[in-house]
Amino acid sequence: MTAAPTTVVREHALGLAAEELPAYLYDLSALDAHVAAVRAALPRQVELHYAAKANPEPEILTTLGPHVDGYEVSSGGELAHVAKAVAGHSLAFGGPGKTPEEITAALELGVARFHVESLYELRMLASLAARVAPHTRVGVLLRFNLGLDAASLAGSSLAMGGRPTPFGLDPVDADTAVSLFTDGSLPQLHLLGVHAHLASGLDAPRQLAVADSIVTWSQALAARHGIRLAEVNVGGGMSVDYADPGARFDWAAYGEGLARLCAAHPGLTLRIEPGRALTAYCGWYATEVLDVKRNHGEEFAVVRGGTHHLRTPAAKGHDQPCTVLPAAGPWPHPWPRSEARQDRVTFAGQLCTPKDVLARQVPVRGLRAGDRVVFAMAGAYAWNISHHDFLMHPRPGFHFL
Ligand SMILES: *Cc1c(COP(=O)(O)O)cnc(C)c1O
Repeated sequence: MTAAPTTVVREHALGLAAEELPAYLYDLSALDAHVAAVRAALPRQVELHYAAKANPEPEILTTLGPHVDGYEVSSGGELAHVAKAVAGHSLAFGGPGKTPEEITAALELGVARFHVESLYELRMLASLAARVAPHTRVGVLLRFNLGLDAASLAGSSLAMGGRPTPFGLDPVDADTAVSLFTDGSLPQLHLLGVHAHLASGLDAPRQLAVADSIVTWSQALAARHGIRLAEVNVGGGMSVDYADPGARFDWAAYGEGLARLCAAHPGLTLRIEPGRALTAYCGWYATEVLDVKRNHGEEFAVVRGGTHHLRTPAAKGHDQPCTVLPAAGPWPHPWPRSEARQDRVTFAGQLCTPKDVLARQVPVRGLRAGDRVVFAMAGAYAWNISHHDFLMHPRPGFHFL
């Protein structure tokens, strides 16, 4: 288990004053190297989009820029933000419940692709496109909630495919949807292909099985209608294992499998849109131990901040991996320092709720007030999914290193 911070993060965490904590520390060089390696593992016919909802900090988006083919945005807010932060990059607009105002804004921005979620949305898009962008043919991928065989989705932490959800079109509507294009009902729109994002947390062999099923299904749909689909987007959801920070998604095996899939379908552009597996590892949440206390036989370290800044462990029900950096120098206060007597400590935050736990029963010997704690894997679905205003504690600092 390697939750240890990189050198630059470690030095920064130790160099900040107590009042400057908690802080999010992002290692942008590590992110750059990681995404470059992901890109290098993928065959050329595979386009890499970043799902901005995982972490939309402008510095993160910019660092990803040279390595990605575009960004997937899922709201009008993300659309405006990403279009500004990384102007000129290709955008795909997905997500359920797009409003007419959001679609209009996307059309005005010249968004390259719409991932359409329902027949209603398809007709809304066509109608708005005729008004807002009458001289363009707007690119569409139909998002389907495909039922895949249970074996390929087993083990995923967030399976969305094949059971009732608000995401995507029901596959039973696939022929109706495609017919609207082939019978000329939607002259404003150009059917580019199919999109499916069916599960989160799949390892490379399962991701490949899912990608293969999506492509096979899409090609059969195209064949039934005598058309060619240029693109298939097989989604994101590459696994990130919070219980084992050293275990990484096998991008090399995934890339080789996608290369075989591309070879079997010449001329097809495949696209993936990971979020978590690209940015989770580049972010750390650094804080200090405020107090160490015993309660009914267990020891707790209360840290500055908590799950209102880093909701990931509460949201996913895991222990956030962390490293203790013992405070350097003498204890600066006139009152005695609290310290742990046991060798396992539960890290809790400052909120008045028992749910504010960052990591349980962590093996840390001799933990003392004033020690620094750096929580790893806080670069995705961390700050931006947290309930910042609960209890009105100060916001963390943000440092892009
Ligand atoms: C959230 C999401 C992604 C990214 O998922 P990760 O698990 O972060 O890789 C990709 N596509 C769609 C449609 C999503 O909703």
